[in-house]
Amino acid sequence: MTTATSAPPMIRATDVNKFFGDLHVLKDINLEVPRGQVVVVLGPSGSGKSTLCRAINRLEPINSGEIAVDGKPLPAEGKALAALRADVGMVFQSFNLFAHKSIVDNVMLAPVKVRKVGSGEARKTAMELLERVGIANQAEKFPAQLSGGQQQRAAIARALAMKPKVMLFDEPTSALDPEMVQEVLDTMTGLAADGMTMLVVTHEMGFARRAAHRVVFMSDGEIVEDSTPDDFFTSPKSERAKDFLGKIL
Ligand code: ADP
Ligand code: MG
Repeated sequence: MTTATSAPPMIRATDVNKFFGDLHVLKDINLEVPRGQVVVVLGPSGSGKSTLCRAINRLEPINSGEIAVDGKPLPAEGKALAALRADVGMVFQSFNLFAHKSIVDNVMLAPVKVRKVGSGEARKTAMELLERVGIANQAEKFPAQLSGGQQQRAAIARALAMKPKVMLFDEPTSALDPEMVQEVLDTMTGLAADGMTMLVVTHEMGFARRAAHRVVFMSDGEIVEDSTPDDFFTSPKSERAKDFLGKIL
């Protein structure tokens, strides 16, 4: 099989700037996530990682520049925005499951409401996804009856239910007890192995080393380094990256 070199990257951010009042939180961000790649975003707290994720599916408006998903510039609003957002699955630190709905209902909800999938089919797909993330046996329970790791896997299944082209993860394991981190990382590694395009903000350096095709290091609203995990961890170029690695490794 030949690679379609003409295919646009799944995400392309071009000269993106974002301000909160006077605070310049994204500074001329240029980033490409090619299809099938896993890009891990690292950086100190406050460097703009979450804002970048939120800007990618327009949860946060940008002040200048352009963000395109699968070659299509993100529209500002309306039906076109809803359609593009559905292509971008997002998993946050807090799982945001609906507390009064069962796990399988949580996973079915958006396909039924947004994609107008019939409930029988949506349930079948939801069960397959719960199987894939390893919690099919928890399907009829409510979120509060699951461990944090199981809830986060349910949140991943819920995002996958919309058949996204790309998945964004913003510190998906930061709120978990340590013993539950690995099961969520394993689920993400499985997704990556299946060829999902992923942008992952994390402090899990082991995951970055093993699963990332590229590491993007952000500091103070800028992309300071964009390299292979090997290069980043063994020979970071900037003082800021050296300083960051010195603190966490
Ligand atoms: P990170 O995810 O890397 O920790 P964030 O993207 O959350 O960084 O934040 C980047 C900067 O923007 C920080 O200085 C933060 O305080 C600020 N910020 C984030 N969200 C808002 C907001 N809604 N209003 C004002 N400032 C914000
Ligand atoms: Mg953040």
